[in-house]
Amino acid sequence: MSSQPIEAAMRQVTVLGATGSIGLSTLDVISRHPDRFRVFALTACRQVNGMLDLCRLHRPDYAVMADEQSAAELASRMPAEWGVEVLGGPEGLVSVAAADGCDTVMASIVGAAGLESTLAAVRAGKRVLLANKEALVMSGKLFMDAVAESGAELLPIDSEHNAIFQCLPPHQTRNFPGAGVRRILLTASGGPFRQTAAEALIDVSPEQACAHPNWSMGQKISVDSATLMNKGLELIEACWLFNTQPAQIEVHVHPESIIHSMVEYVDGSVLAQLGSPDMRTPIANGLAWPERIDSGVAPLDLFALGRFHFERPDAERFPCLRLAAEAFEQGGTSPAVLNAANEEAVAAFLRRELRFTDIPAIIDSVLAALPAVSADNFSVIFDKDRESRSLALEQIRRRAVSVSGLG
Ligand code: NAD
Ligand code: MG
Repeated sequence: MSSQPIEAAMRQVTVLGATGSIGLSTLDVISRHPDRFRVFALTACRQVNGMLDLCRLHRPDYAVMADEQSAAELASRMPAEWGVEVLGGPEGLVSVAAADGCDTVMASIVGAAGLESTLAAVRAGKRVLLANKEALVMSGKLFMDAVAESGAELLPIDSEHNAIFQCLPPHQTRNFPGAGVRRILLTASGGPFRQTAAEALIDVSPEQACAHPNWSMGQKISVDSATLMNKGLELIEACWLFNTQPAQIEVHVHPESIIHSMVEYVDGSVLAQLGSPDMRTPIANGLAWPERIDSGVAPLDLFALGRFHFERPDAERFPCLRLAAEAFEQGGTSPAVLNAANEEAVAAFLRRELRFTDIPAIIDSVLAALPAVSADNFSVIFDKDRESRSLALEQIRRRAVSVSGLG
């Protein structure tokens, strides 16, 4: 047998949400390995300048703008000699996610807007690198059934889920009894308000909420980290990815964000994955899996860190974690309702139309008004998503506070 390493096949990658935080980190890893990865398609919503820059660098076959007007502008500015075809609208997103010319799709659009294209990649049997947790939270069982049916290779990119995936036996990631798993210890940074008094939370601004102590991320997930809804969504995400229940998952606030999560086995062993808080590590893991490649992340210096801390999440100040666990227990359409109400509440908070502490209140009242019905197909999910948003917007208008009131 030859001792030469087997040459890995060139992966053709579509990056959904290329101009975002995860999209840019993905392109950074890809550009370190031109022998392994080629960019097949890039997508964004409205960032025409950002997309032009990325096309100049990566020369994909396709560039898609979800917003049609932005697609027209991009097409008019794209130099013909770059050989990039511009597409627009949701159909454009779906077509590059499912195209024969690509084998790997990074699903990194934020929110429910990413469900359709992520699902198209799943149905086309791609290697799907899942950052867009909202897609899985909304559609849960239907999403996982689609993965099983098509044989798509679903790899978690969320740092906690990627850590859990790395700590599980490779062929038993959905069989905890068989693998001897007792619990998952899901770590959380605690966000920027971990030590903020309950009375002070009422006045926090979008800028404060988006100033995450350890991670640099898009605005929506930054606010979710501040309310702990991000951990709630991740609890649901872990249940679906690893075929388990909230009772087997315990959230540990770990403010250093170095341990990205742990798996506890019945023999008392606890396996953890550690690393600097930089999403290029889980992204490189997913892109190259089961191999390992350089991600550009600096080595961890444990001497400089010195010590780790752990505490329990505070359910009083951060009710979103409980709301998410309850929505999962209710099942059916409830996680989709939770997600939609949260997206609208977070967007209103970012527009300064809602107080930080009203985010859980809006979600709670929308969940109460729209009890779970069974989620038999995706159209039920999309309908419930729309219904929850209009109800959330109505409630937000009722609670609306003036910009000056928020300071
Ligand atoms: P971001 O806001 O930085 O980027 C979002 C991307 O989605 C952009 O390219 C944007 O153009 C695109 N987009 C937004 N709305 C769209 C729409 N309606 N249609 C099509 N495209 C649209 O977000 P992010 O921080 O990169 O997060 C992306 C996803 O990854 C989220 O689901 C988030 O929860 C998840 N995630 C992010 C991180 C992180 O470190 N940023 C970590 C774990 C998971
Ligand atoms: Mg995470």
